[in-house]
Formats: sequence, structure tokens, C-alpha cells
Amino acid sequence: MNAKEVLKFYFGYESFKTGQEEIIEAILAGNDVLSIMPTGAGKSICYQVPALILPGITIVISPLISLMQDQVKALNEAGIHAGYINSSLSETQIMKVYSLAQEGKFKILYVAPERLESSEFKSFVENVEISMVTVDEAHCISQWGQDFRPSYLKIIDFIDSLRNRPIVSAFTATATEEVKTDITCVLKLKNPKVVVTGFDRENLYYDVKKLKNKDGYVLDYIKSHPNESGIIYAATKKRVDDLFELLLGSGISAAKYHAGMSNEDRKNNQNDFIFDRVQVIVATNAFGMGIDKSNVRFVIHYNMPQSMENYYQEAGRAGRDGEAAQCILLFSPQDIVINKFLLEHKEFADVSYEDINLIMERDIRRLQIMEGYCKTSECLRNYILDYFGEKRNEPCDNCGNCNKDFKEIDMTEEAKTVINCVWEAKGRFGSNIIIGTLLGANTARIRELETFKYKTYKALEKCNEEDLRLLINQLILKGYICQTADKYSVLQMGNIEPLRDPSTRIMIRKSTESENETETTKKRRSKKTDILTKAGYDLFERLRILRLTIASEEGLPPYIIFNDKTLIDMVIKTPLDRAQMLNVSGIGEAKFSKYGERFIEAVREFVDENPGAVTFISDSKDDEAGIISSDSENAAASRSGTKRKTKKTKEAFYLNPEDKNKFKYKDLCNIIEIRDELKRISSAENIKQLFGTDIFRFLTDLGYVNEVLTDGRLVKQATETGISKGIISVEKISEKGNVYEVLMYPAEVQKEIVEHYIEKKEEIQ
Ligand code: ADP
Ligand code: MG
Repeated sequence: MNAKEVLKFYFGYESFKTGQEEIIEAILAGNDVLSIMPTGAGKSICYQVPALILPGITIVISPLISLMQDQVKALNEAGIHAGYINSSLSETQIMKVYSLAQEGKFKILYVAPERLESSEFKSFVENVEISMVTVDEAHCISQWGQDFRPSYLKIIDFIDSLRNRPIVSAFTATATEEVKTDITCVLKLKNPKVVVTGFDRENLYYDVKKLKNKDGYVLDYIKSHPNESGIIYAATKKRVDDLFELLLGSGISAAKYHAGMSNEDRKNNQNDFIFDRVQVIVATNAFGMGIDKSNVRFVIHYNMPQSMENYYQEAGRAGRDGEAAQCILLFSPQDIVINKFLLEHKEFADVSYEDINLIMERDIRRLQIMEGYCKTSECLRNYILDYFGEKRNEPCDNCGNCNKDFKEIDMTEEAKTVINCVWEAKGRFGSNIIIGTLLGANTARIRELETFKYKTYKALEKCNEEDLRLLINQLILKGYICQTADKYSVLQMGNIEPLRDPSTRIMIRKSTESENETETTKKRRSKKTDILTKAGYDLFERLRILRLTIASEEGLPPYIIFNDKTLIDMVIKTPLDRAQMLNVSGIGEAKFSKYGERFIEAVREFVDENPGAVTFISDSKDDEAGIISSDSENAAASRSGTKRKTKKTKEAFYLNPEDKNKFKYKDLCNIIEIRDELKRISSAENIKQLFGTDIFRFLTDLGYVNEVLTDGRLVKQATETGISKGIISVEKISEKGNVYEVLMYPAEVQKEIVEHYIEKKEEIQ
């Protein structure tokens, strides 16, 4: 079987997700790989598929027992023989695993890193052929991260000890340069194929709510999302306890999790959540590491977390199945106080005084960035991506801020006054004093600091405080003023040069919605279940109950039997025979033979009882034009008596042939200019966004450019072919004065790119 056949046969998926195929091909060609993909992107498939094709066994190193167990269960369910070795097994069980593996019964064996040094393991590997060593959660190797695991440093000794060096593949969702370099160096990856996919998680909807009544919001939210699994994070154990009581008191099925509970209670509660025995879990940030539950539909943060890294990881536990999910942060200024307190009382063991200062400074900086997220009125997704190094110019149209109505106010003049005040204060005061001074407040503090003597005292008395806060945030964001990373967070002068240009305007965006609204945003991307009709939802419920029944028979979490996405697809396709069932996303041969018939029966029963029922209506935003359902689907529809609407999705970016001549060719331009020009000329409707990385990938495929790891950084460069085509690299200087290089493409290459996007369309037709 080739990779695609393996994907279909075992995992039941029609096509690869972004990055998967590239990684699998590289592995099968014998290359090392380093893959950095966000949570839920489907990293497991990237090593599991080649593991099934390569001749020998693949050893997967994974940091957590629960993760290993989950993965092995899922593999076994898919009809793949896999095993694990960790401290949850007895010696006898471990011996059994070794002997099965030696007989060639396993293609994939998960091991804990500590195990690699044991003498049994060493003698075991001498007797088997190891094709690949995979390091999952590879960021655990880096001392930079919070998840550092010293035993991960031993992996390389293990690899070096093998008679034949296997392929080494490493996977992580952490994208920072330090981590990337650490992984490459510590694992001694050999000229690895590095695949970094975008960090965006399109199915996640982000929102920040500033509410007075957080409790009321949480209760309303859960009640209006019955049957949806969710996590509520709170900052302290006390809050978790209180919230838990509140939910129970309102008849919501909930569990709780924090470090103050016994191991056993924590484990039981976690399992109740994973097995869908409770709807919601309320937890501190102690919860979540190693949770692969794929059908978490919402993650609500009752308090602001301490950093964007934490937030992205915790919120990212929503929607791993790729279905729409919501990440909502409930912000109140009190959260800043709580977090500062927690940071100031953080305990340090064995850390030098200087390091403590460094860490404190870093923590405060992170907190400020998190605060910025809660206060920004710009696109929330872009704020996150920007922080993780991915620049976007267009707002996402799928987050709370993009969906809110804002009015824009020009505050350029006020901005200058604020800056003057910061200048007068000589960088000694924080935003409260600055605002108080500008408004002309007569408080003891202002009298004491004598800021009433400033020229700017009372200068903005006509403004309201909220606008001034928004303005100061905006000025910080744009770098006109800076905030220090110590606990005083004072305001200092930044680079005000651009303000001397009279065309520079400073705008603030102000929400026109009332503060207390609790309804969920109207325009948010519709969930897949939103397209189900009442009948469709009934069927979904039946299938869910069947899944729960089977799950308890098998002692497996329901999402390992089938995930939500698969059930929804089943409702849409109403399969009545084997072929139709195998056509449902997520159903491979093994799962079909175990559960297929029972689900077909459930669907049949439903169809008999509800002749002519329509199970879904495709009216969601994504579904406006495009693909027509296949003949076999329509035939199935008429047979089953259910009516089908055509199913539609957004197409990849393309150009219509008549767009071709609109492209304005230049002697040389960079990839962003090319992208913008392509976007400008495209007359195609309902197409996906085009990114510079898409174009870069195309040029990589042509062999014109590549990325190489230089001094721990990935540098884009032209290949020999690229250079002969006239691609050159020019030096630029950033605003901060750093020198960097940009590739410039000549008109001939621009033409090839244009052709490429036109050709794509022709292939489809
Ligand atoms: P990661 O390790 O990157 O966080 P996982 O490997 O756990 O992600 O996969 C996340 C989800 O995506 C799983 O439910 C998996 O079955 C699903 N998935 C993976 N590959 C595909 C694919 N090609 N098509 C559809 N779903 C997929
Ligand atoms: Mg994973």
C-alpha cells in the first residue's frame, strides 16, 4: 500500500492535511524530519503512516503515559498492532510486549524516554530492525521551555548506540527559534526536512469578554450549549472550587481538577471528562497536559492566563477534531492584579539572583502581552499569530473583535498630548498617573508627585478615561511609547519619529456594544452541527448515544470510537451500506468491521421512522459555492428518501484566465508584493486566502528556492536554478536597525507564478 492507501484503509481519511504528505514523503525517502505544526494539525499520522510502510519497527518516544495509552488505543481501534512500554505496566507485561515486538507483531512501539537506558530495552533493540525513531512532543528536549524533560537528552545516546542509524523524525507544536535549534542540535538531525505549517487554527473562534457578571455568563453559556464538552480554566484553586459548586448547584454535570486534590480524585475526574460522563471540567492550569480529547467544543478562561504561550496551549485544547470550537476569555482588570501577585510569589529553587531577575522580567513582559490581547480592539487571531511570528495583514473575520461593531475615532492630537505628558514624567510613572494627570485629577497621589505642575495637566480633561486607556494601548502597540517590564510598568518614550509626518493618524477603535452583553456573537462561523436540521440533530443524538454505549462496552473514550466530525459526516451522508459507510470521513476498514453494521442499523432505523427527512441544510458561510455532491451520494439520497442539498466549500486561491493580463509585472519584486498583486487581480469568488508561504512553497517545488538552517535560523535562499532564473537576494534594514535579506523575483518568475494559479483552475474544471 502507498501512503494514501494506508491513510484511507486504516484511518478512513480521503486526503492529507496541510504538511502531512510532504513529511511522509520525506520520511519514506529516508530523510530526517523536523515538523512544527500546531495542536490538532495531525502530527501523529505523519509518523504512523510511514511506520506502517517502512520495513522494520518504529520507536516513538513520548513524554506522558496517558498520551501513549491514548495513541495506542486509537491505533488498535484502527486495526494497527501497536504497543507501549512505560511504568504503568508490570515487568511481566513488559516482557510480553518485548517478545511480541520481536516476533514482528508491532509496527509501532511507544516508549517513555527513561526506558531507553534500561538493559532490557537495550538488548531488545539489538534483536529487531528499527526503521525510524520518532520523538513526539520534541520541545521537551529544550531547556528553554516549561516542559523540559532531562530524560529527553538521553535520546541521542540511544540513537547513537544503534547498529544502523534509523530515520529520525521529531514533532512539536512549539515554534520558537530556540526550541527549533535545540531539537535539531540535540537530536543531531541530519540535514532534516523542516516543515513548518501555519500556526493558525482556523476552526477556533477567539473572543474576549469584559464582563461584570462572569458567573452568569458561564452558566448561560453552558446552558445554551448542552451536550457540548468544554473546559473552564480559572486562576486559583479557590475559584475552581467555587465555580464547581456553582455549576453543580445549577444542575450542570461537571467535574473539577486542581493541584490541591488527591492524585486519585484528579485521575477519576479527568476520566469522567474524557469519557464524556460529565459535560464540563473546571480546572486550574494544572489540567490538560496530555489531554488528547478531540471533541472539546469550548474553552472558557474565567481569568486571564499569565502568558500568550499558556493561553494558546490551553485554548488550543478546543477543537482538535477540526470542527468549529470557541475560545473565550473573560477579562477583568482584577485579573492583572491576581497574576502580578502570583508572579511576585512564584517560588524559585536553585536559581541564581540574576536569573531570577531575568525570569521576572520575562514573566512581566509576557503578562503585558497577554494584557494587550485582552485590551486590543484589533483582530484577536492576528494578535496571537503576530506574537508567534506570523504576520497577517487582513483581519480574520472569525473572532470577537472582527465581528464586533466598532467606531473609529481619530485621536492624533490627543496622542501628541499623551506623549508630551510621558515626556514630562521622565519615564517615572505608569498609565494611571499619566491618565490622572491628563484628566486633571486632584488626588493625594498626584499632589504628592506634583504632576499638577505639568504643562499637560488637565490638557485632556474633555476626554473620557476609557478612551485614554485605549489610546495608550494603541500607542504602546505602535511603539510610540513603551512600558517597562518591571513590576511598576512605567511608561517611557518610544520611537515618535513617524508622528512628525503629518499624514500619520492615530485611530482608536471603540466597541459600540454594551459592556454586559452575554449572548454569543451573532456572526461567528457556524459550527458543522449548525447545518443540521431538527431531524439531523435527532439522528446525531442517536448516533452519539450509540457511540457512548459502544464506548462503555469497550472501555474506551467515545472520541476514540469515532470523533464528532465523523458522526456529523454520518448524519449528512446517512450511509446505508458498507460502501457508503466507508465513504464517511474517519471510517477505515477496521472500524467499519467493528462498528459499521451497528451504525448502519441506527441510520436505517432513523430513515425508516422519518421517511423523507432532511438531515442538513448547507447555508453556512463556507458553503456558498462549489463542489456538487457526487452521483453516488445523490443516489444514496434518493434511496434513503432523505433530500440532499449540494455540499460546498471554499476553493483554493486561483485566477480566472481573463485575470492573466491584469498583472503588473515589475523588474523585481518580493513575494508579498506578488501576493498582493495576485489578490488584486483575481476575479474569482469565494476562494481561500492566499499567503506568501503558499507561493514560496510553489517556488520550492520548482527548485528555485529553499530554506536552510543557518546559525540556528531558517534562512530563505535562491538555489542555483533560482539564481540562473534571476532571483536575487537584497539586504534591507528593519525599523529596529537589524539587517535582513529579502528574495526578489524577476518578471519571468512572476509570470510562472501567475501561470501556476491559472493552471490550477483548469485542472479543477
Ligand atoms: P497533533 O498531534 O498534531 O495535535 P493529532 O495527531 O492528535 O494532532 O490529530 C488531530 C486530529 O486530526 C485527530 O482527530 C486525527 O484523527 C485528525 N486527523 C489527522 N489527519 C487527518 C486527515 N488527513 N484527515 C482528517 N483528519 C485527520
Ligand atoms: Mg500529538
